[in-house]
Amino acid sequence: MKDVAAMISQASRVWVVSHVLPDGDALGSSLGLMHLLAAQGKQVRLFSAGPIPEEYLFLPGMDRVSDVLPEAGEMDLAVMLDCHQPERTGPVSAKFLAQLPRVAIIDHHQGEVEFGQAAWVDPSFAATSEMVTILAQSEGWSIPPQAATCLFVGVQTDTGSFRYANTTPRVFRVAADLAEAGAEVWPISQEVYATRPKRLRLLGRIMDNLELSQEGRLALSQITLADLEKVGAGPADLEQAVETLRLIPGVEVSALFRQNAKGAIKVSMRSRGKVDVSRVAIDLGGGGHKGAAGVTMEGNLEGVRRDIATRLRQGLEALA
Ligand code: AMP
Ligand code: MN
Ligand code: MN
Repeated sequence: MKDVAAMISQASRVWVVSHVLPDGDALGSSLGLMHLLAAQGKQVRLFSAGPIPEEYLFLPGMDRVSDVLPEAGEMDLAVMLDCHQPERTGPVSAKFLAQLPRVAIIDHHQGEVEFGQAAWVDPSFAATSEMVTILAQSEGWSIPPQAATCLFVGVQTDTGSFRYANTTPRVFRVAADLAEAGAEVWPISQEVYATRPKRLRLLGRIMDNLELSQEGRLALSQITLADLEKVGAGPADLEQAVETLRLIPGVEVSALFRQNAKGAIKVSMRSRGKVDVSRVAIDLGGGGHKGAAGVTMEGNLEGVRRDIATRLRQGLEALA
């Protein structure tokens, strides 16, 4: 953490980047860091390859997020958040990152870190936003209310609203500190957990496509481009839906397969805790955590589904 903090302190023009299909933590930690650094008079630019889920458009500073790269030489430092592989940020930004002299990483995902000049990567944290909050506190940075709001959303969403196994006492302390610094829980929750009819229809389709096997311990489902089109939804509408499969009583491991516009298949896996789904994801070039991991694979839906199902079945069989 100290190396990352020193690198950030020395920079006056900072470029902040996080992963594609950003979630609440990717956006919350990026915008949170922007507000923290702007309060110190630093010049900050934010990049996201998108698409941005609607529920995060309310975040303060969202209008500053851009999918346009800065000119080379315009920035002193890039900070990569909520991921540690440049390819996770998108093709355009990965190329750009590789040319930069200084990249600092803050992330909580499993896996080897082979990139960057300073990296603070620790899977014991529930969220990158939790790490950014602790960094700010240990460096004595003041936390403006806008920063607190963004960081709170990151912690809230990556813990499934303080429900998942990663919800430690430290998470509650950080959340309490952010609430004290100006994060307003009810206004935030109304935005983040707004009822969106198209998403509930999408969830209906996910349940229509549900396949339970392994005595009900494995749940698989899928969403095609045609399904998305039918309900008028996009890829950013699926983030919260994935969680529902894991919580079907008896289900230990779940996976959702979704076609993307480029014809590849995005796989989202969830485990209740006994099977480490990040192993399956990392083996296939993806990543994540023990209980939540993902990978994007070339191939048709049926083939990818069969391959992943076999690996998850093996994970379940190894428990017995
Ligand atoms: P998701 O299923 O997209 O919600 O992702 C679950 C977890 O796995 C998150 O922590 C993601 O950041 C991570 N993840 C998803 N897809 C990938 C990927 N292609 N490469 C690395 N990590 C991923
Ligand atoms: Mn994320
Ligand atoms: Mn995260």
